[in-house]
Amino acid sequence: MAAAKGQLLKIYRLLLKRFGHRGWWPGETRFEVMVGAILTQNTNWGNVEKAIREMKKRGLVEPKRLAEADVREVEKAVKSSGYFRQKARRVKGFAKWLVESYGGDLGKMFAKETKELREELLEINGIGPETADSILLYAGGKPVFVVDAYTRRSFARIGLLGEDAEYGEVQEFFEGNLPRSVELYKDFHAQIVALGKNFCKTRPRCNECPLKAICRFASIRAPAHRRPGSAPGARRL
Ligand code: SF4
Repeated sequence: MAAAKGQLLKIYRLLLKRFGHRGWWPGETRFEVMVGAILTQNTNWGNVEKAIREMKKRGLVEPKRLAEADVREVEKAVKSSGYFRQKARRVKGFAKWLVESYGGDLGKMFAKETKELREELLEINGIGPETADSILLYAGGKPVFVVDAYTRRSFARIGLLGEDAEYGEVQEFFEGNLPRSVELYKDFHAQIVALGKNFCKTRPRCNECPLKAICRFASIRAPAHRRPGSAPGARRL
């Protein structure tokens, strides 16, 4: 356990040195961060930014306004984020839940005990563990580690996780082996995303990767057909 603790912090420092502080998650308000966490499912961030800009033009980045908006107007606003019909209903449904459960008051929402709030979020259509945890960490400032496909793939290759580790298992591994720090959790997740996008891709660029000296995959130089992990593809809901 102590070895994993030291190893995780060492990995974080190597990534931080390479990518710098990521300042993630971008957003002017907490509600915008939450809407972004839903819209980013199965698409890249550039498309989400366009959708949020369009939502802002229409005054939709506000819980009550979004909850009451015509779904067709929301569809038009989020079109650039892909799966726009589904996503329009998801962000609208989330806003409706926020208004009905907490009067649209984010202070009240995040005053709720984290585990209970997570359970509530998971009951909302279209919100899975990764989205719920992104909302809790980046909008709520709760010490919850976000796990995504990049996390699973990179850390299986590095040799710290099994290839088939479940979401909860991966989350426990990080939370149990890192200091309980919201800022660390926020930036570490963002660093892992940067690692996955820049180096630890489907075809990893190990020679240029800042983790090559400590990575099991890089050290054994496995032939292509034996490479652990697969493409992250769609983000887990
Ligand atoms: S060294 Fe290669 S396999 Fe290991 S984390 Fe970096 S890119 Fe991924």
